[in-house]
Amino acid sequence: MNQHIQNSADGRVESYRNFIDGRFSEAQSGSVEVFNPATQEFLAATPNSSEAAVDEAVAAAKRAQPGWERLPAIQRAGYLRQISAKIRGARDRLAEIITREQGKVLGLARVEVDFTADYIDYMAEWARRIEGEIIPSDRPGESIFLMRKPIGVTAGILPWNFPFFLIARKLAPALLTGNTIVIKPSEETPINAFEFARLVAETNLPAGVFNLVGGTGATVGAHLTQHADIGLISFTGSVPTGIRIMQAAAQNLTRVNLELGGKAPAIVLADADLDLAATAIVASRVINTGQVCNCAERVYADKSIADSLIENIAAKMKATRYGDPMKDHDLDMGPLINAAGLAKVSAMVSRAQEQGGDVIVGGKVADLGAGHHYEPTLIIGCRADMEIMRKEIFGPVLPIQTIDGLDEAIALSNDSDYGLTSSIYTRDLSSAMRAIQQLKFGETYVNRENFEAMQGFHAGRRKSGIGGADGKHGLHEYMETHVAYIKV
Ligand code: NAD
Repeated sequence: MNQHIQNSADGRVESYRNFIDGRFSEAQSGSVEVFNPATQEFLAATPNSSEAAVDEAVAAAKRAQPGWERLPAIQRAGYLRQISAKIRGARDRLAEIITREQGKVLGLARVEVDFTADYIDYMAEWARRIEGEIIPSDRPGESIFLMRKPIGVTAGILPWNFPFFLIARKLAPALLTGNTIVIKPSEETPINAFEFARLVAETNLPAGVFNLVGGTGATVGAHLTQHADIGLISFTGSVPTGIRIMQAAAQNLTRVNLELGGKAPAIVLADADLDLAATAIVASRVINTGQVCNCAERVYADKSIADSLIENIAAKMKATRYGDPMKDHDLDMGPLINAAGLAKVSAMVSRAQEQGGDVIVGGKVADLGAGHHYEPTLIIGCRADMEIMRKEIFGPVLPIQTIDGLDEAIALSNDSDYGLTSSIYTRDLSSAMRAIQQLKFGETYVNRENFEAMQGFHAGRRKSGIGGADGKHGLHEYMETHVAYIKV
């Protein structure tokens, strides 16, 4: 491959089509052009669909749903396993596509592809474990059955940061439980989703069960959220878009599952293993160039160890290797996703300096000739009232505030619009337990980097979202209950 995504035999640049009702649509649409964020080179044209394409996809999903629901769950799982096998077969090609389009380093793109295939298999394993309940009745001779049933047609609206994995996070639980789905990828990273559709097209998944419609949030996304035939909108993305989606969904009282932003605190207490803490915090900040909802976004360092911790973190941030991940395969991070992301991060760092923060590592746009690169950055002397400690940065910038003990750290952590993930570093079990009891977050990591497991439950409090994903509880988000009262 050179800089263009060239899949066809004659090497021409691909242009992609929507996948609706089991085939690639012939209908012409405008195009969303995709560029490599590391180099700004053009990669491919993807559909910029109209509302009519959304209607077509929803209608196909609606037609397919009753037949899909009637299949035994174990058969639906078999189709999911066909998809995961196809993904494994195309692993390296998919990883390169993700890296070119999104900018993450190749190693992480491979992890994303592997995790996606494993996640689909994990959800397939639930096929024989979707259970209802039998509840005792107050009436003689009566049984009360609580059953779990699919919602119907679901929609998955995706962000760009883990674009391939997020297809599976929505599709696998939806399909396993008997729903059909329409997916809309981010306009920043649609190519990998169209490649996913190509793999699905090679399986014998029934037509209409999975549909993919590319385009903008304003047209495709907004139309999906207002569609009366959709029973659940599962969205991952920013808080402002989540609010708009909930408002739009209210017209039809459509269910929403919202996985939104985060501002994860990392608390480092006086008794922490400082090298472990520094390693895990830096890893949680530079992974995917800081563009992860559960990344360590603010550090609270106990005053007794703050200087040593800062020295350790500074050395690791300085040693962080960055650049074009297709040119150099041994990097820690690539570029930010686009020019707007770069401008946002850069402006936040400038404002942090104006508000009294001291930049001791990085602090600048990295001049690599092209691409949206920002230097790994460490800001010390931060205070709770500074924007950099309150707003999601979504870049490789780590602000540190010095605190005096666990109680202050917990109070500062909880004083946030966000409530997705949090972490604490300590050797003392009672401090860790107190943090777990008092932190008001969906997840807390103790003495390890921020990265959730597929069998856990990833859910945010406050403005970080409604509902969650993964594990048994994530599966239940895609089902409704039906209670039958049976008198004999
Ligand atoms: P975004 O909100 O800008 O866009 C996400 C998707 O929403 C895109 O597909 C976009 O086209 C679509 N969209 C935009 N406007 C819409 C509208 N009015 N109606 C319907 N859809 C619309 O988010 P992003 O920049 O792609 O992603 C980054 C954000 O996602 C960060 O805030 C990050 O924290 C969050 N995120 C959260 C999680 C989680 O699990 N909680 C995971 C990954 C990313």
